[in-house]
Amino acid sequence: MDPIPAMDLTRGMVYRVSARNIRIAVYAGENKFVGIREKFGERFLEIEVFGDTLNRIISPIAGPLPKTIVLDAYLPPRCRRCRKLCWWTGPPAPAPWACRSGCATVETVVWRNRKLFRLLNALEKGVSVSA
Ligand SMILES: [Zn+2]
Repeated sequence: MDPIPAMDLTRGMVYRVSARNIRIAVYAGENKFVGIREKFGERFLEIEVFGDTLNRIISPIAGPLPKTIVLDAYLPPRCRRCRKLCWWTGPPAPAPWACRSGCATVETVVWRNRKLFRLLNALEKGVSVSA
């Protein structure tokens, strides 16, 4: 099968790819793909960039994924105290963060995207995904 040109990619579609560390990946837009990498016995989501660490898109295999699934290796940062979404208000450094509850001092927590991991993991095992 001929490789797919980057301009024909659909955000949220899962593709079989040829990349440095991953074999299947969801297209997250802006030339970024997210897939499962294995390193030292651990499996986790990794971002590969088309034209850099990912050089060939072979074929779509599933999707598009539900819009409720964040297409990134990590979820947006949350406030350690209230668990609500945070955003960066800087510069200057060190990071001045704010949260939706207006906590006085905001320390961020970043979570791995388990929902996307589970979906891609199931796809790698040959289980179909309903969108
Ligand atoms: Zn907070």
